[in-house]
Amino acid sequence: MSDLTDLYQQVILDHNRRPRNRGKLPTANRVARGENPTCGDQCSVYLRMEGDRIAEISFDGSGCAISQASASLMTTQLKGKTAAEAEELFKGFHHIVTTGEEPEEISDIAAFAGVHAFPARIKCATLGWHAALNALHGDTAPVHTE
Ligand code: ZN
Repeated sequence: MSDLTDLYQQVILDHNRRPRNRGKLPTANRVARGENPTCGDQCSVYLRMEGDRIAEISFDGSGCAISQASASLMTTQLKGKTAAEAEELFKGFHHIVTTGEEPEEISDIAAFAGVHAFPARIKCATLGWHAALNALHGDTAPVHTE
């Protein structure tokens, strides 16, 4: 797993050092939790919806650098988006981490393209996104990646 260092690109390191939108959101009206037992990652996602739009979003959790950086980046991507737009963004992110194909537009999420070479890490990278989508759908049962 020596190539694993390739995963820790600048964007990932930065989000890991200075997570964005981290902490419980007191005004949240949707919450969902995700767990990735394989790696020991945990992630809760808090949303404050205004109609169909994500007015505010935060996450809280613990785990590996990939899971926490991905959740942090996810919050910056989803804030202000509608549920449908969030679904599209997740599809795009999922495509990147499962195929390694970078998006045409320059985007921070491309930093996660290297994850595709490490299938076990895909669960880490998508944990926060799965929790966010569950929160969007109002499904508050914990997400398990197993
Ligand atoms: Zn992990």
